[in-house]
Amino acid sequence: MSQDKRKLKKKAWKLLATCIRQEKPRCEVCKVNPTTEVHHIVLKARGNVVYFLERNLLAVCATCHTGFHRRWSPEEIEQAVVKTKGDFSDVEQVKWNTLKYSVSDYERMIAEYTERLTK
Ligand SMILES: [Zn+2]
Ligand SMILES: [Zn+2]
Repeated sequence: MSQDKRKLKKKAWKLLATCIRQEKPRCEVCKVNPTTEVHHIVLKARGNVVYFLERNLLAVCATCHTGFHRRWSPEEIEQAVVKTKGDFSDVEQVKWNTLKYSVSDYERMIAEYTERLTK
């Protein structure tokens, strides 16, 4: 990935995460603590599609986020996903999609998320 594209991806992600934190001020998992972070249910390393797919994202507090990454068993994680997202097979189906976003895709996303933040 070119330096420019990497920067655009980072910027797009920051904006999207900010949108999600604003729109979902309370953790979607415990429904108690304020949202501080955004979690990728399917690993973000899998590709651009799941990285930016909102069905794959959860607004979480630091405690639940640590749960996902360190404390919870696979069954507990599965439960948290079903509780917040319902049937998740749609996302499972795109997790191997290796489509690469272009510079103009990122620019379009940045414009869209920026617009969303001003609403
Ligand atoms: Zn929480
Ligand atoms: Zn995470």
